[in-house]
Amino acid sequence: MEKLKLKQEIKFHFVLHILMAAFITIASYVHLPFGSFKGNLIYFAHFLLLHFSLFGFIYIFSLFHKIFRVLFPIIFVMVTSLSFWVYTQDLTIGVGMIQAILETNLDIAIDTISFQLILFILFSTGCMVLFFRFYRKSKISSIKSPLFLIAILGVSTFFIIENYKFDAFKNRLPYNIYFNTIKYFDKPNIQLKEVHQQVFTNEENVHIVLVVGESVRADHLSLNGYARNTNPLLSQQKNLISFSKVFTPFTFTAQSLPQILTDISIDDKERYKDATSLYTVLNKASFATEWIGNQSLEKSYKDIIYSNTSKLIIDQFHSFLSFKKEKDLALLDHFSLDDSLVGNKISTLHMIGSHWYYNTRITSDFGHFRPIITSKYLYSSTKEALINSYDNTLVYLDNFLNVVIEKLKKSSKKTVLIYISDHGETLGEDGKWLHAQEHEASKNPAMLVWFSDNFEKRYPLKIRQMKAKKKDSITTDFLFHSVLDLGNIENFKYQKEQSIFN
Ligand SMILES: [Zn+2]
Repeated sequence: MEKLKLKQEIKFHFVLHILMAAFITIASYVHLPFGSFKGNLIYFAHFLLLHFSLFGFIYIFSLFHKIFRVLFPIIFVMVTSLSFWVYTQDLTIGVGMIQAILETNLDIAIDTISFQLILFILFSTGCMVLFFRFYRKSKISSIKSPLFLIAILGVSTFFIIENYKFDAFKNRLPYNIYFNTIKYFDKPNIQLKEVHQQVFTNEENVHIVLVVGESVRADHLSLNGYARNTNPLLSQQKNLISFSKVFTPFTFTAQSLPQILTDISIDDKERYKDATSLYTVLNKASFATEWIGNQSLEKSYKDIIYSNTSKLIIDQFHSFLSFKKEKDLALLDHFSLDDSLVGNKISTLHMIGSHWYYNTRITSDFGHFRPIITSKYLYSSTKEALINSYDNTLVYLDNFLNVVIEKLKKSSKKTVLIYISDHGETLGEDGKWLHAQEHEASKNPAMLVWFSDNFEKRYPLKIRQMKAKKKDSITTDFLFHSVLDLGNIENFKYQKEQSIFN
């Protein structure tokens, strides 16, 4: 009898997981480039472990038989309606997506409904109905069952893996829905201060373009002496200064951006309390502030983006995890000079830049260095291929900035471009790769300044001071104060001595 019950339980959960794999979890893997046999094997093991951990949670849930039989099919169908987008468009379930679902108007939501989506949902609903009808008399779980112990092991697997490798499961379906919903409701960890007084500037015709890069290390630019020509175009620009010794202690976007774009210093202990956004100050001085981004919203800098008077995220539902993400040049479709308008302006272009997975950041005409990586699994690629793929993104960046500069040259305004990467990247130093690993190699981001002839004519001293500082070792604290200095901001206290133009 006991044996029969156990058999029923196993059958029930096995078929349930087949359905879950087909409708939900495989969507998280299907867009990965596997490359090698080893890469395939690793991701298959990852998939099995993910299901083993899910088995743990679901088995425990199923101990509450009645609630489980009612709630599980509903949750299942809701999740499949999201996994449809991951399957078909490689959309990423992130905070931005959860926000869109929870805050979007019904009429916009209706626009996203397609025949295929309805079919997919109907099919998954049908499967659930049949499944629970077929197993309606079957024994599905019990605390006394040996499967209960295995379930405990499954739940432990989740916590062990998450502890060992940050976000290993949390980024995949269905876990990402749960964790990003929690993140959405979490309070922001940065509190922006208002600026109450009127702020002034005696300038009226300057356009500052701030390009925020991603994962670009200074020493891989040929402008800074890198042996490979990663700056074929920028090296021809005469008004371009590269600062090779900029440092930040922060090695991932969510930490570094709030520091770069506010008055927070890298030495501040209470980093996220009471910060002033650069844009809040500039708004007060009647600057037009505009943000055009190619990265999805992160809680830690969402409010800073929102402190711009105009903001646009060009591809908000494809995060860096997606292989269909827009390339950075698409940012420029939304960027214009507005020469006819009188007044000052700051435009911020936030790039996806050189974020892993490198190949997806560029179009094939920038694939100069070969061979390149073919798998998302790091360890199946050679060091040479990894660096080639990374360097290709720098050639793309070289072109991107060059296009912006050529555009700015045509402006009648006094234009300045500041490019700063949020942090660097570790490329095999001490066996480490990518960033967010607290390695020195990822703490020296690339930084460039380009200025128009118009600007130099009006502010020769600022340019001379800036050129004199190009070999200085500075921290990312410089940005906030330098931009305010560039805009000749008055009646707001900032540290002019930190400005590179002073
Ligand atoms: Zn970053």
